[in-house]
Parts: sequence; C-alpha cells; structure tokens
Amino acid sequence: MIYEVGGVIVAKKAHACGGEEWQVLRTGADVKLKCLKCGRVVFASVDETKKMTKKYIGSDKNDG
Ligand SMILES: [Zn+2]
Repeated sequence: MIYEVGGVIVAKKAHACGGEEWQVLRTGADVKLKCLKCGRVVFASVDETKKMTKKYIGSDKNDG
C-alpha cells in the first residue's frame, strides 16, 4: 500500500479522543499523521501505519 499526502486512513483502533480518521501529512521513512477529530499529530513508521490501517481513502476522494 502506498500512502499519499492528503490521503486519509481509517484506523482499526480509535484514538484516545474517539476519532478513527487520520490524514497523511507527510510520507517517507516515517509517516506523519494528523487525527481529524482532535488535530493531534503523530509519527509512525510505514509498517506501523500499515498495521493500524483498516481502510485507506486516497487523496482523490472528497467525501467530507
Ligand atoms: Zn484524536
């Protein structure tokens, strides 16, 4: 799976705030993710990101 900047990840497990969607802010060796509910920014390795991803919504989809 290839993550793109602007794409949104639906996580398997909700964040502490209850949000499940994370936006990809930066990719590379590490992926920078922002929780869409509380705005918290975290770094995770690509491997960790893959593990937490339930569904990946590409950046070309504007579904709200
Ligand atoms: Zn959150």
